[in-house]
Amino acid sequence: MSSDVGTDVRDQLWQKQSHYVAARSSFYQARWKGQRIPDRLSDIAALPLVDKADLRRAQQLFAPFGSYLAAEQTDITRVHRTGGTTGEAMNLALSVDDARQTAMIGARAQSASGLGPGDVVVHCLNYQMWMGGFTDHTTLEATGATVIPFGVGNPELLIRTIQSLRVTAISCTPSYPAVLQSVLTRMGLAPRDLHLRLGLFGGEVALDIPGFRERLEDTWGFAARNSNYGVTDVMCNFAGQCEEQNDLHFLAMDALHPEIINPVTGEVQPWEAGAHGELVLTHLKRDCQPLVRFRTGDVVTLTATEPCSCGRHAPRFQVTGRSDDMVVIRGVNVFPSSVAAVVHADDDLSGEYRIVLPGAGPYDRLPLQVELSEGIDVQDQQRVDTIVDRVKAAVARDLRVTADLSAVAFHAMPRTEGKTARVVRA
Ligand SMILES: [Zn+2]
Repeated sequence: MSSDVGTDVRDQLWQKQSHYVAARSSFYQARWKGQRIPDRLSDIAALPLVDKADLRRAQQLFAPFGSYLAAEQTDITRVHRTGGTTGEAMNLALSVDDARQTAMIGARAQSASGLGPGDVVVHCLNYQMWMGGFTDHTTLEATGATVIPFGVGNPELLIRTIQSLRVTAISCTPSYPAVLQSVLTRMGLAPRDLHLRLGLFGGEVALDIPGFRERLEDTWGFAARNSNYGVTDVMCNFAGQCEEQNDLHFLAMDALHPEIINPVTGEVQPWEAGAHGELVLTHLKRDCQPLVRFRTGDVVTLTATEPCSCGRHAPRFQVTGRSDDMVVIRGVNVFPSSVAAVVHADDDLSGEYRIVLPGAGPYDRLPLQVELSEGIDVQDQQRVDTIVDRVKAAVARDLRVTADLSAVAFHAMPRTEGKTARVVRA
């Protein structure tokens, strides 16, 4: 089944699913008390939004799967846990049908990025309870490719495996090729000696940092694509880049209903190119933990709704950032990702930066700290002033806000192994 389904089919899916949810989910029974359930998805905004904190509370009170578990415990065939980047880990349950649908939709994303029959792909994500391991593996298999379940660690064995099994594609995090590259050097090999034609990535926005993808493709000789965008509590992968362009195709119109809302007011934005706001998702078919109007926390821009030159009709979007990282300056939404683009484009900056917010706001100016490149003397006032003025001008031009900008010496900002907090609330 293709993801291109009409409004009528989607409304029918919703009618069946909403009645199932109303009958089986005590979580939604409590929230929808006294409310009429709309027949059409176009009227769904009458129902309340739910967010991650609601789900977390529901799992704490009704362990282990939460009061939004709508299936019988005996219908659960697979359980994952989330990585838990913020707060407690969450338990995710899948039925046979949930798992089958997840594999089919994830496969659309991997296929859009160019994977298919004849490919041999090595999957190098963590298989220990995380969805990115085993369940992503099933999405790769569903493309018709041959899949090697490698997991993480032991890069020497990985390199020998790629060579002996004639692997054509690698599925991993965007930071992993750099690790492999240093191991290859020790082994007297170069990345291109592995003859990989495709690198499939996901989970991080690194591919969108200017220059990163080009360097990766140049070093390895493969095409680098984000083939794996998902929201763990909803579906692990439902969007990917195709071979024609760099936006993400939303490939689950037959399984999920997307809305874009203003993250501050909750108001629904018209579904048309240019719409910008927080992505809200509703399952159109889900047995175990169905969600209705779930705030993903991801802020997206809908970039196109007309057919793509790859032939897909699936709408296209870009992920701008997280709604909890969004800063409103004089009514303009600013995301760390757009600040990063400005900072990365300037050769006199190291790329490290912080947005340090004083108090609760509202804010008139963007309080931005940037770090100078190696070799630039922070005492050289004239040179630092020139750099600061240039970066302020770039912020004003690209972000449409005025920055309160200060520059610090190279390595004055701490480096962290994991995700760096770019927005600091003082
Ligand atoms: Zn396309």
